Amino acid sequence: MSYTPKVAPWPKKFADKIPVSEIFHSIQGEGRYAGHPALFIRLKYCNLGCAWCDTRFTWEEGQIEAGELLTAEQITARATALLKDSSLADDCHLVLTGGEPMLHQDRIPVLIASLQAAGFRFFEIETNGTYPPSAEMVACISWWNCSPKLSNNGLSAAENVVPEALRAIAATGRADFKFVIQSRRDLDELEITYSGLIPHNRIILMPEGTTPAKIDQVGRWLLEECRNRGYRFSSRLHILAWGNERGR
Ligand code: SF4
Repeated sequence: MSYTPKVAPWPKKFADKIPVSEIFHSIQGEGRYAGHPALFIRLKYCNLGCAWCDTRFTWEEGQIEAGELLTAEQITARATALLKDSSLADDCHLVLTGGEPMLHQDRIPVLIASLQAAGFRFFEIETNGTYPPSAEMVACISWWNCSPKLSNNGLSAAENVVPEALRAIAATGRADFKFVIQSRRDLDELEITYSGLIPHNRIILMPEGTTPAKIDQVGRWLLEECRNRGYRFSSRLHILAWGNERGR
């Protein structure tokens, strides 16, 4: 997939460096590993540009922040410095997020090797599922938190859905597919668009919202829909605890 011009210009040469937006220590707030201690490395740039994106500072023209272009060793040093004790790395999930971190998949295996040497053992990646992973990525990512998009993000199925990428991520056997839900209409679209591409028992539905009130409002009926349709449910723990505060 080519990089779309609607988002910030793609730097021509990164060499061995990775554009980092922010690094912070928190608790995983979404999906299968919600509640687990986690160190987040947020990478810059995205190929989609969702209407409701809550990390526009990683990609949108006019809002994108400078961030830093760092080597794997520099990122590892920043990550370990955030832990109170280096032994905490052993049971702290390392979460690569964005933006769309798969834009940088050619440099991520080297980063993960560096983080493993520092004691991290479990590597999650949060991706929109529009890039097929390389064999190296399949080997080094412990869990794929894939979040394919519905048209509630303002884009068409042609832009949101890349079947070969979704099938490759599903084939790892270490993936969930988490959908951001605004209305019941989204559930019908999900079943029409994605059935046959991803396994039903790996689908997680999560309410869209960046305030506790919105998560509560959508979450109440969405929980019932999950029970009735046989999907898992995810809340957004960090939103419930801290609102949309950065670095939490
Ligand atoms: Fe934001 Fe994710 Fe959509 Fe990219 S794919 S615009 S990071 S919500």
